[in-house]
Amino acid sequence: MAIDHFDLVVIGAGPGGYVGAIRAAQLGMKVACVEREPALGGVCLRIGCIPTKALLESSERYWAARHELAEHGVGVGDVTLDLGAMMARKDGIVNNLTRGVDFLFKKQKVKRYFGEGRLVGPGRVEVVGETNLELSADHVLLATGSSAATLKGVELDGERIITSTEALTLEAVPERLLVIGAGVVGLELGSVWNRLGAEVTVVEYLDRILPGVDGQVSKLAHRLFTRQGLSFRLGARVKSAGAKGEGCFVEIDGGERLEADRALVAVGRRPNTEGLGLDSVSIEVDARGFIPVDERFATKAEGVFAVGDVIGGPMLAHAASHEAVACVERLATGWGHVNRDATPWVVYTDPELAFVGRTEEQLIQAGVPYKSGTFFFKGNGRAATLGRSDGITKVLAHADTDRLLGVHILGPRAGDLISEAVAALEFGASSEDLARICHPHPSLAEALTEAALSVEGRPIHG
Ligand code: NAD
Repeated sequence: MAIDHFDLVVIGAGPGGYVGAIRAAQLGMKVACVEREPALGGVCLRIGCIPTKALLESSERYWAARHELAEHGVGVGDVTLDLGAMMARKDGIVNNLTRGVDFLFKKQKVKRYFGEGRLVGPGRVEVVGETNLELSADHVLLATGSSAATLKGVELDGERIITSTEALTLEAVPERLLVIGAGVVGLELGSVWNRLGAEVTVVEYLDRILPGVDGQVSKLAHRLFTRQGLSFRLGARVKSAGAKGEGCFVEIDGGERLEADRALVAVGRRPNTEGLGLDSVSIEVDARGFIPVDERFATKAEGVFAVGDVIGGPMLAHAASHEAVACVERLATGWGHVNRDATPWVVYTDPELAFVGRTEEQLIQAGVPYKSGTFFFKGNGRAATLGRSDGITKVLAHADTDRLLGVHILGPRAGDLISEAVAALEFGASSEDLARICHPHPSLAEALTEAALSVEGRPIHG
């Protein structure tokens, strides 16, 4: 029996679900959000972006104390690692942020239900928890996210063959860590454990790291990460992995076996649709398991919408939030839009890697005539003072119209710098517009001016 009726019931309280719920409530809807985990915030806040960034920051400080502070004339004596304290700091950040979502729900009068949410028919959502109950809704938003994928022949045991979730809570630094997959997760978490002292080998099927990243940028990143101590085995497909004695092994094509204490499987993510009751409203997933939606994020079932990792596209927290806002705004106002061409990506390695728009390879493949301008951070004064002169900024613009098509940054604080490029792309700027914007001096953002000037072959400092 339905206990209450809502304008919108959201299933999942990750960056798609909780942001959509809040925005819908702001727009005057009566909103409920069903989440099976005690803490709100989804993978991103609990076991993804936020704890990873916390450990990246801490491990960067540890690395700097050991390898960089002396150059600044700062002596710190013996540098020690208290991994427990590092993990406790990370947990504290996660707890504060997830509790923050509870607070926001209360503030916006979003009703939270604790339990597994599933569709049981048009406009009906069952909450399976300590006590089962049923909600009725005019609209349902599915935002159930994704889980770490694994490979055939690789059995996750949560101890030696692990995913990102366990790699965020290790109690000791493994002597040797194998990372399967040179994507975002593999490189971020591989960097953390490398800085903390593990010998890290990344095994990647492709002949390059970071698929999807501009080729020139990816090559430079590969060089820089290798210099930091990460080892790469490119063009090596993992066939199987398993526990062996106290450690584990990974077998790659050709029969070679690599051994280590732990193996982190970082080969992508799969959408969470199991047990969601899609059958009850006749929704079928596509060949890759994603829920198909149209430009309104509407599924084939009347009144049922879906956003975030569960629909595919860029599996990024901010993309999910953006989609959720557009979806509920469209419900309330008739308007709502996501510009996928202006969705930024950030990899929080050191240096950070960020980009928006097209890569050079994509432009070549699409036959789009383009001009390119690059600038290396070694010509940037602010980067020199930070001791962070490695990296590149690359601007791609249309050969005829000069309209910006892509901006790629590998360098200090690239994740923050990219926002200017995102704004420029959103507003349809040209590379000349970017070059003529007055940037403060000395600042890292001057690299954008210089790369934009380089499109016309006239950088000042390059
Ligand atoms: P990914 O898709 O980024 O990378 C997976 C890598 O594994 C690929 O390079 C692939 O070629 C490789 N691979 C696949 N099968 C293999 C095999 N048999 N042997 C060797 N290598 C193999 O996936 P991910 O790093 O797990 O990340 C998952 C998702 O989470 C991505 O969509 C990513 O964008 C998102 N994410 C984003 C951030 C961020 O924005 N900073 C951080 C973490 C995760």
